[in-house]
Amino acid sequence: MRFNRPKITYFRLNRFCVPVIVFALIIYATWAYCHKFCYDQVYVALNHKSIAIGLIVAEIILALLVFGIWLQLVLIGPGKQPRVPPFRIVQDLGEEISSIDDEKPLSSIIPPDVYQCDPQGYPIWCSTCQSLKMERTHHSSTLGYCISRFDHYCVWIGTVVGRKNYRLFIQFNLYCDMLFCLIIISICCYLPRIVHQHKRLPQVNPNILITLGLDCVGFLMVTPLLLSHIYYMMTNRTSIEILATKRHAKATQTWFCYYNAVDGYRYVVEFLPREMQDFWNKHKILINIKEFLGQNAFMWLIPIGSNIEDHDAITTNFDDILGPYRETISQRFREIIEHKIEKGEYVKSMRVYGDRCRDTLDHSV
Ligand SMILES: [Zn+2]
Repeated sequence: MRFNRPKITYFRLNRFCVPVIVFALIIYATWAYCHKFCYDQVYVALNHKSIAIGLIVAEIILALLVFGIWLQLVLIGPGKQPRVPPFRIVQDLGEEISSIDDEKPLSSIIPPDVYQCDPQGYPIWCSTCQSLKMERTHHSSTLGYCISRFDHYCVWIGTVVGRKNYRLFIQFNLYCDMLFCLIIISICCYLPRIVHQHKRLPQVNPNILITLGLDCVGFLMVTPLLLSHIYYMMTNRTSIEILATKRHAKATQTWFCYYNAVDGYRYVVEFLPREMQDFWNKHKILINIKEFLGQNAFMWLIPIGSNIEDHDAITTNFDDILGPYRETISQRFREIIEHKIEKGEYVKSMRVYGDRCRDTLDHSV
């Protein structure tokens, strides 16, 4: 649509401005560190040739790793939630449509036994993507699609962090921190000798001091971020979930629609923000971390690709449609939901057409 173009152009410029500045600063710091510090001071003035070469090689390897991970973060992206058709909650046209035209996909599918819903028990719909929004999915206005396990929009790298590029995001922070540490420690170790040579601190090449300052700022920003994300992974939370419980405590009740196989009814159960804090936590650190970084621990530090594989559904089964993007709730939380139902703490109960299809399927097997 033509009338939207000026706004999009401005937005794109705005979006890429900060990452371009960050990119330029890393390039500048690499030049200042390798040329002005390692070569001019350590190699030539102090004659520590092998140390200077080692530092230059280490810096360039780490800087290339950081750029390589950054590129992958943007190109691989946060992970688009596969399109989920509406659930068969009411008597709909799903079967009739498919019987008229076999090539047309089913307009609705059998709902899973638990799903996040509104207070009426209906799943959450994204009108832009024409898809159901599953648990932990949020629509990104920046990218224009629904993102599985949306974490946050990172202004520094210029993209959204979600389920697919989360491991790369952790690796990006880790290798950035290693780069900052290398620069800060090596400059601090040599600074007294460099100052001694120049008699006074202001005589030292300003590029070295600026690089030291920039890397200290970077280190102080990245380290708390990395540590907090390690904590989020250990407790199976995302940044947006933490923010939601902190800032809008009253506005974020969450409802789940639960299928009780015993009586064949569905129950809509409400959760308060404080109850949701622990909703996805499997209470085993390793299991939680594997949900974010992948099953193969060897790959946690190897910055190549995503732990989420490309996925194409071949059936209209809910699990198959979502594939690796499917969220799992813990047995503990199932028990909490069942306990609430037993005590009568549910918003409403209802019979659902799709569950009768499920019963028929179960009996026919
Ligand atoms: Zn969407």
